[in-house]
Amino acid sequence: MRAVDLIRKKRDAREHSREEINFLIHGYTNGDIPDYQMAAWLMAAWIRKLSPAETQALTEAMLRSGEVFDHSDLPMKKVDKHSTGGVGDNTSLILAPIVAEGGLAVPMISGRGLGHTGGTLDKLEAIPGFNTALPQADFRRVLRECRMSLIGQTAEIAPADKKIYALRDATSTVENIGLICASIMSKKLAEGIDALVLDVKTGPGAFMDQEDDAVQLAEVMVQTARGMGKKCVALLTDMSQPLGRMAGHSNEVIEAIDVLKGKGPEDLRELSIELSAWMFYLGERCRFVEEGRKLAEETIRSGRALERLRACIGLQGGDPRVIDDRTLLPGAKFKAHVTSPRSGYVAATRCRDFGIALAMLEGGRGKKEDTIDHGVGLEFHKRIGDHVQVGEKLVTIDYNSEVRLAEAKQLILESFEFTGQPVAAPPLIRRVIGE
Ligand code: URA
Repeated sequence: MRAVDLIRKKRDAREHSREEINFLIHGYTNGDIPDYQMAAWLMAAWIRKLSPAETQALTEAMLRSGEVFDHSDLPMKKVDKHSTGGVGDNTSLILAPIVAEGGLAVPMISGRGLGHTGGTLDKLEAIPGFNTALPQADFRRVLRECRMSLIGQTAEIAPADKKIYALRDATSTVENIGLICASIMSKKLAEGIDALVLDVKTGPGAFMDQEDDAVQLAEVMVQTARGMGKKCVALLTDMSQPLGRMAGHSNEVIEAIDVLKGKGPEDLRELSIELSAWMFYLGERCRFVEEGRKLAEETIRSGRALERLRACIGLQGGDPRVIDDRTLLPGAKFKAHVTSPRSGYVAATRCRDFGIALAMLEGGRGKKEDTIDHGVGLEFHKRIGDHVQVGEKLVTIDYNSEVRLAEAKQLILESFEFTGQPVAAPPLIRRVIGE
């Protein structure tokens, strides 16, 4: 087999066999296939697309390029959730303690912010001392002791994805359903889980802003997970506006803690409970999703989910006092407000631009995590369907540097669309795929 023949085959829109995909991934990971050939193949795959069978083979090949964790020493089912990313999406911080408290194990390997979206790892690192790079032995110990642990991708997990992802980033071949599915699922299935709940976002704040594309991505991911013997469903959820009222690292930790204290915004609470309920159901902790909802609510009401988060923070080296004292989180020195230029109803938002504005003020994201200003944040005062008076606050910005403040304020202001007519709030959970 030669890489050049496989590039030609994909260029001519012909389907690869499993052996061909294995050859490509194995060869690229061990350095036999150079970047320029893999880049050409990726562009051919981006244009010609991958079939479900090719996607499944690619996912398996990328998964097998590294280690698959084995948690069979733990007696309970292991479950996780993955979100395709959005603005203000901090449900992982809420549902991991809920589900762990409810009796399942959550071995969560999370990512950093990507483009306009926030990442769980960056949020956790707002907590002073919290270590997201635990060695495998410590990850297992924390998981054993409190049934949840949250870390980042290690060198052992899906190394093929690490290499291919960097190349996709540099060759503009990211937004492709088969490639996204293989990238996400190869990492998630390496966690050694029994079941996975996917939160596939759709709307202007999501990578897949068209609902049809989001549905297709969800279907392929569910099929791929099931093809590998894992239980999986996908919830298609709204990202036409930020989730909750806060975006930014310290802000989102605070809001997650609020939800676990039985407070916090209703949409964030509802989605966290729904995702937890599906995790309980797929993890066979309950017979019906409705039972899962009740169990999730009970772990919040009793305060036990909050205590589970406190324990996890302590075990991962973080300062658990942040649960009771938010001033221990990095903060911002200054506040600015974006106010409404007119009276009327909020009709829509270009939600992605909120994430872009936030990233401007944070001074960097993802790859240069040490340059992120965790204290920077946005607070949203108005949602789609809300009435607003001219001059009323739309968004409060917490910031530390004025360098890009004017630009960020303008972007936020222009993200809002108004109308004189009442507008219905968009539904949060559009549908469940693979029910
Ligand atoms: N997240 C990933 O890990 N991979 C993708 O391709 C897209 C989002």
